[in-house]
Amino acid sequence: MIPTLRGEISAEELGRTLMHEHVFVLNAELMINYPELFPVEEMVSRAVEVLDGVRASGIDTFVDLSVMGTGRNVPVLARIAAQVDLNILVATGWYTYHEAPVFAQINGPGRLFDGPDPLTEMFVRDIREGISGTGVRAAVLKCSADRYGMTDGVRTVMQAVADAHLETGAPIFTHSDTDNGTGLAQQDYFASRGIDLAGVVIGHVGDTTDIDLLRRIADRGSVLGMDRFGLESRLPYAQRIDTVVRMCELGYADRMVLATDSSVFSMNFPDEHRRTNLPLWDARAIMNQVVPDLRDRGVAEVQIEQMMTGNAARILAAGRK
Ligand SMILES: [Zn+2]
Repeated sequence: MIPTLRGEISAEELGRTLMHEHVFVLNAELMINYPELFPVEEMVSRAVEVLDGVRASGIDTFVDLSVMGTGRNVPVLARIAAQVDLNILVATGWYTYHEAPVFAQINGPGRLFDGPDPLTEMFVRDIREGISGTGVRAAVLKCSADRYGMTDGVRTVMQAVADAHLETGAPIFTHSDTDNGTGLAQQDYFASRGIDLAGVVIGHVGDTTDIDLLRRIADRGSVLGMDRFGLESRLPYAQRIDTVVRMCELGYADRMVLATDSSVFSMNFPDEHRRTNLPLWDARAIMNQVVPDLRDRGVAEVQIEQMMTGNAARILAAGRK
């Protein structure tokens, strides 16, 4: 069974699934120290409106990949989930491009204060017992590697994610950067830990049009996150569509998931910039725009179902202990 914000569901109940989204991208320290920056009641009502629209577009399940480092706030998400008819899955992990949090640099095996790795313990607790007293359990693990590559801090988090995966079986979702080859490096690391790459989604590789790179990653077993539709600043929409169409022609529909990586409210992207420059960067756009455009380009219904439903069920249900 797969944990959601409103209890457990079976793989069959997942339905059409957005595999890399965010309700909010926040900063937990700012939220404590500058609460006036976070109009929580307005954020909740906006989220309910957008998620109602996601549901109305034909989506059944929304995977929220906000973790520590991007202000994960499960108590607020639980309030939203109570008001929308959508399965929302939450993640555990730590989002960093460079350093691990200081407590994890100096506490842990072989570190200044020798002992068990604190990140691993937190991730396992989130998956097994639940998050911040809500009883909501994390469904997936998340880590990131971006412009600085595989730094010591990135590796510290990945090691904890790998250990938590080996203990719990929860699937791993990554944030990678195609400009810096971190998707392949993430695969190298997880493979070196004996992890089946079929349970690892390499995120954001839809930012490239490099078919050879995409095939290399997919041929090792991982699923490709074609998950930033509408983020024009990284790759224009039409090129993202072209790439998915080409990969479907090459037989990779069973290795791709479609999403937007957008959010209802983000500390990082001002609303005005999004309205003006990123009109399609919205989780409602996958069923309302992307899927119809793929159909028009000749992608078969069975391939669309594979990318929207089949792959999610396979990944999210696999290997749970
Ligand atoms: Zn993301």
